[in-house]
Amino acid sequence: MTKSKLREAKKEFDALNVYEHISPQQVSFYKDLVRLLSKYQLHLKKENTFPSLTSKQALNKIKEEKSLLDLSQIKLGEKYLEDIFNDLNKLILKYGFFEKNEGEQLKQAYQKKKLNLKQLVIENITCNGEYIHNLSTILQVSSDILIFIAIHSIKPILELACIAYSDLIKFADWYKNTCPICGSPPYISKLSKEEGKRVLKCSLCDYEWLFSRLMCPFCNNEDQEFHKYFYIEEDSPYRVDVCDKCHQYIKTVDERKYPSDKRINLFMDHISTIYLDFKAYEEGYTNNLIFYNQNNLVALNKIN
Ligand SMILES: [Zn+2]
Ligand SMILES: [Zn+2]
Repeated sequence: MTKSKLREAKKEFDALNVYEHISPQQVSFYKDLVRLLSKYQLHLKKENTFPSLTSKQALNKIKEEKSLLDLSQIKLGEKYLEDIFNDLNKLILKYGFFEKNEGEQLKQAYQKKKLNLKQLVIENITCNGEYIHNLSTILQVSSDILIFIAIHSIKPILELACIAYSDLIKFADWYKNTCPICGSPPYISKLSKEEGKRVLKCSLCDYEWLFSRLMCPFCNNEDQEFHKYFYIEEDSPYRVDVCDKCHQYIKTVDERKYPSDKRINLFMDHISTIYLDFKAYEEGYTNNLIFYNQNNLVALNKIN
């Protein structure tokens, strides 16, 4: 994130303080998190942490229906992982997300080499839930904390890859439910003004891509009988789309109902509508694929 973008983000965070559904502490947490991730992005800019691609290579990958980033080729330096691990721990401690001795246990596990940060990041991104579960039991640290650390350790690299790759080609024919850049699932969507096109936003690298309005973005089910949505306030641009086939949900921002003097920023919209995630959970829907939401929810639960 450039300095001007950081300044812009600060303004948007300040604007969040007027929302009734979000506490100043929640705003402060996200602000700190964005600042932390931006710091690492700036450092990493000078290093080659992911392979470069030509437009032709990118085009071939998309034709083969593969996302552009080969996760096995990401370079995760030990010094980088240790530094961001320490900073994320400080953040978790500051906002009281650790239970009992979890913070100390985590630190000691790393020092005694019982915690391999690189493996944690890789196992998490390849959705090896069993590894995370076992590590959580051995270290006596909650899975949510481990996943939070794993996701945010790799996020600055994926966001940089997104910036580098997104202009290589047009992703017009990519109608998959995973990100064309990094292969991750979406965490929020928007219905754009033009013909109500649907755009999904990646949970990890932040890329936004077009997707069918008629399909579930998790299980691809097209049977409309299983698709529903709910909202809290009728005039609000925010709603929750749910699928009764896979019981997953995604929040949707309807640009046609959005204030015309405001620019949509899906990340900020996500933060200001965390109450909708709680509502969806209450109604029995999950979005297990979207660790980002899930973890912050768990964490935010503890703030309140
Ligand atoms: Zn992505
Ligand atoms: Zn579904």
